[in-house]
Amino acid sequence: MSLSKKLIISFVFTIIISIFITSFVSNTMINKKFDAYLIEEQNIRFERIRNDINQLFIQKSNNLDSKDISNYASVEGIYIEVRDPKNNLVCHSNNKLPRPRRGNMRGYHGMMGSGLGSQGNYREKSFPLLDDDKIMGRLIIGYMDNSHLTEASMVFKDTLSKSFFISAIIAAILGFIISIFLSKGLTNPLISITNTANEIRNGNLGSRSKVKTNTREILQLSQSINYLAQTLENQDNLRKRYASDIAHELRTPLTTLKSHVEAMIDGVWETDEEHLNILMKEIERLNKLVEDLKDSFKNLEGKLSLNRSNFNISNELEDIISEFIPLFKRNNHSLEYSIEKGIQVFMDKDKLKQIMYNLLTNALKYLKHNGKVVVKLCKEKGMVKITVEDNGIGIKEEDIPYIFERFYRADLSRNKETGGTGLGLSITKALVEAHEGSIFVESQYGKGTKFTILLPIIGPPY
Ligand code: ADP
Repeated sequence: MSLSKKLIISFVFTIIISIFITSFVSNTMINKKFDAYLIEEQNIRFERIRNDINQLFIQKSNNLDSKDISNYASVEGIYIEVRDPKNNLVCHSNNKLPRPRRGNMRGYHGMMGSGLGSQGNYREKSFPLLDDDKIMGRLIIGYMDNSHLTEASMVFKDTLSKSFFISAIIAAILGFIISIFLSKGLTNPLISITNTANEIRNGNLGSRSKVKTNTREILQLSQSINYLAQTLENQDNLRKRYASDIAHELRTPLTTLKSHVEAMIDGVWETDEEHLNILMKEIERLNKLVEDLKDSFKNLEGKLSLNRSNFNISNELEDIISEFIPLFKRNNHSLEYSIEKGIQVFMDKDKLKQIMYNLLTNALKYLKHNGKVVVKLCKEKGMVKITVEDNGIGIKEEDIPYIFERFYRADLSRNKETGGTGLGLSITKALVEAHEGSIFVESQYGKGTKFTILLPIIGPPY
């Protein structure tokens, strides 16, 4: 069943039930109160009649006769009987009512009462006739138990019931119309969002939900779908760009290799050690590219899972640096450090090694003769700060904004020499950011470069 049908049925059902309950309860209560009011009115009337007959009884000194009361009785639509204190009949009205025999009163259906022809039961009420608190006799008033229901009151009750019925129908119709609008207002945006989702599923990643609604949850759903589409589109674009970048990156060393090997086959190049070393360098470059690509793919797929542990970064950094010192020395460079002792971090140790390895190999690659690299570690404003500063070739100002991008290499001719792939810094940045840290660079072309890493001091999750 569609959501809109379900909503309409639920709305209408709820409306009908509530209208029925409201009408029933109000109608019953109003009727009850109204009946009580009419009976009260009737009792006041009977009291007035008793007063009148009491006065007449005293005036006529107990000699009341039928004539005196008959007119009165027929005007009031009741039966009147007067008895003396010994319960002997003094007189009774002779209106055409057959006086019911006692004991048979309940079954009597008379023509007295409301005059509407409605049936009712005969009832009698007895009142004392007094003269200065002395009981002179008894007045018996006979009436139909529905005689309080006058024609006007019946019309009033009827109108009341009808108006309840009509308002119930109008409310049900209005409720039905409102429920249609309401359910359409809810389901139309959902249908539109579903259509967008289907289009995205069918590969149209540019499709966006343009739903306009003031329902917060639907708006959030629409925004989430759009965000999802945008992410998929970005991923798709990234994949395409990545594929073409990789093809391009692989083509260069392969072409070089091919042309060198061809030259050897054709005898233009001799197959000696020097030329084979050139080929070896190209193969090493290819090898490095494949290794870097592997890491880079991991970042791209978001598979960078961290294996964090609590360790002393000061000691760890010293160990890493001491591994690099011989390499620097061999190339007539120096690697110095200034490390604040005893700094604890909660990080992935291997990833820290990879970050430092990338920065130190870069520094080494781009040093001039007798170059110098200084690594510093300290705590600053609640963060761990690592700097790697070299006095190497530096980076041109126009290249600085792009060096963290994949495959970006600032100085291509130099890079050919150093065998760079342009992936190292993009991987480093991803690793630092995976630790909620940040990395930035300051550089002066020809003078040197300084990389700064800021890492939050995060405790273990206990
Ligand atoms: P690559 O493998 O080419 O070194 P990276 O992503 O590590 O790739 O670096 C990107 C570019 O940034 C490099 O090609 C280089 O031009 C520049 N670069 C990185 N580190 C330094 C540095 N310490 N000194 C000078 N240039 C650097």
